[in-house]
Amino acid sequence: MKRSPEFQHSVRQYINGRWETGVTTGRSINPSDLRETVAEYARADRNQTDLAVRAAADALRAWSLTTPQRRADALDQIGSEILARRDELGLLLAREEGKTLPEAVAEAARAGQIFKFFAGEALRVGGESIASLRPGVHVDVSREPVGVVALIAPWNLPLAIPAWKIAPALACGNALVFKPSELVPACGWALADIISRAALPAGTFNLVMGSGREVGQALAEHPLVDAVSFTGSAANGQRVLLATAARRAKVQLEMGGKNPLVVLADADLELAVDCAVQGAYFSTGQRCTASSRLIVEAPVHDAFVARLKQRIASLKVGHALEPGVDIGPVADGRQLQKNLDAIAAAGEEGAEHVWGGEQLQRPSEGHYLSPALFLAKPAHRIAREEVFGPVACVLRADDADHALALANDTPFGLCAGICTNSLRHAMHFRRHARVGMTMVNLPTAGIDYHVPFGGRKASSYGPREQGRHAAGFYSILKTGYLRA
Ligand code: NAD
Repeated sequence: MKRSPEFQHSVRQYINGRWETGVTTGRSINPSDLRETVAEYARADRNQTDLAVRAAADALRAWSLTTPQRRADALDQIGSEILARRDELGLLLAREEGKTLPEAVAEAARAGQIFKFFAGEALRVGGESIASLRPGVHVDVSREPVGVVALIAPWNLPLAIPAWKIAPALACGNALVFKPSELVPACGWALADIISRAALPAGTFNLVMGSGREVGQALAEHPLVDAVSFTGSAANGQRVLLATAARRAKVQLEMGGKNPLVVLADADLELAVDCAVQGAYFSTGQRCTASSRLIVEAPVHDAFVARLKQRIASLKVGHALEPGVDIGPVADGRQLQKNLDAIAAAGEEGAEHVWGGEQLQRPSEGHYLSPALFLAKPAHRIAREEVFGPVACVLRADDADHALALANDTPFGLCAGICTNSLRHAMHFRRHARVGMTMVNLPTAGIDYHVPFGGRKASSYGPREQGRHAAGFYSILKTGYLRA
């Protein structure tokens, strides 16, 4: 069903198979047009969160004993509905989070494909059979659900990230409580609405919305929550880590990045500029994998900067629903201020301003920011701290070894890219970049959903997300010995 852009959702929690009002209500606002409320949503408190966790705990046995076929059918049905409604869901996403409409529709399609992928994985949750050291004894290793899992998601990929947590959790037979970010409740609700039609046993899937400090923290601390999968900022990831470690719950954290894109002197410069533009500025730079550090070898430094400046000057910033817009608005006022503060700090620390970083006026009042580029030194904050906006800096490297050293000179370790025509340099970089994902002649942002996703150092903690390796988090190994 096609909705008019002005449609306002009234969004409730989904607990134990019923739609529930909250203790208070909140609103999500369209960052492209601040006059427009996208959703009024029910906000839970600790008590309502507790009800959702208890509902999941009660439902766990029924769902964990379902057949793989039953789980596969449910996930396939969810994936089919998301794919069939990708345009409508993309429109909602673009209005609530501010991605351009084509980016948002692609994300909705991605969410559907993820459910389809895990429909297949539900059939392949397997184990192994191994010869025992002892005669007459049989050993097998099987996977069982972890139990009740809490899934805490950020706002920047409001359909895809929940999909890549919810789908493997259900495929592996867990019951769950999902908490979306306060900025994107309608996207969370839209997924819950679709999942509610898959006839899961009541309580298997629950949606609670509200503040991270209250609802998120309550989930991380709840004694009946066996595992927490969190994606968000490093500071909140640390809080979740402490709360879960204190009670020995399983935990998976995906946090920030300060991803380098290295450009060597032998690179195809046009391709390198393309990778930088896509990686640093598309999706308004609001991607954990954004290429916010462009490390360029000295012989091509000036030519690269000149071409990049020319390209970003031609990018169109505007309303997420306007055709031809390359960069939508920043997601909210707090995030915009964070970007502006980082831009001001870059200037104060002596980074050389190349382009952008100004607030823009558009026909509708929104959080518009022109893409910003600086020439920085490795010690500058703009080269070290995650901004999470359309802001990038260029660092000059003496040679390939220096470029690799600069790439690794960060507390983060999510993704690292290199543009080069040398196989030797590419393979060396792949081996020695201290990250979870590497890219050669590709933007650092833009990943496949059927392979592991995650990083090292301050970017990630715990088992990988996505692909068949997701089962490593959402299941527990049991070893059985048997003498017939
Ligand atoms: P955030 O940390 O503010 O919020 C993330 C989620 O955690 C929200 O649902 C929030 O309500 C909840 N939360 C907040 N405080 C909490 C607490 N004390 N306990 C439990 N939950 C709490 O992050 P954000 O602003 O929504 O997202 C941006 C961040 O997410 C960036 O740092 C970005 O790099 C990161 N991110 C990482 C990945 C990845 O996979 N590595 C992907 C996307 C975004």
